[in-house]
Amino acid sequence: MRVGHGYDVHRFIEGRPLILGGVEIPHDRGLEAHSDGDAVIHAICDALLGAAALGDIGTYYPDTDDKFSDIDSRILLRDVCRKLAELNFSIANIDATIVAQAPKMLPHINKMKTTLSEDMQISTTDINIKATTTERMGFIGNEEGLAVHAVCLIKPTSS
Ligand code: MG
Repeated sequence: MRVGHGYDVHRFIEGRPLILGGVEIPHDRGLEAHSDGDAVIHAICDALLGAAALGDIGTYYPDTDDKFSDIDSRILLRDVCRKLAELNFSIANIDATIVAQAPKMLPHINKMKTTLSEDMQISTTDINIKATTTERMGFIGNEEGLAVHAVCLIKPTSS
């Protein structure tokens, strides 16, 4: 078994949809990014790449490359999963924490889990997503942006 950790932060800006865990969440602002800004998927990608000692998301999908402009992060997640499969790694489980003052994430967590389970080809029972606030402290508390932490375990694929 190998463990991996990922962390991502994005700033809220007006005029973009808020997409987290592959799900569009009703909110007055979205996340500033070269891609669609899906910090949940970015943190999970970094956790998976970290567990496989494959560097980080910026290594493969640089924000200087127009090819990845506004890209659906689900495409990146599926590509990361392909990289792990090529090395004969399977995902054992994922645990992610969204740190945001607003909006409320709970109504969307199940859909995120279903969406991510399709992209990672694992059971929803192997995915946990939770959310917390910072009790109105700091940049997250005053709703400038949000952060996501993710950890994963990967294991050799049994043949
Ligand atoms: Mg990111």
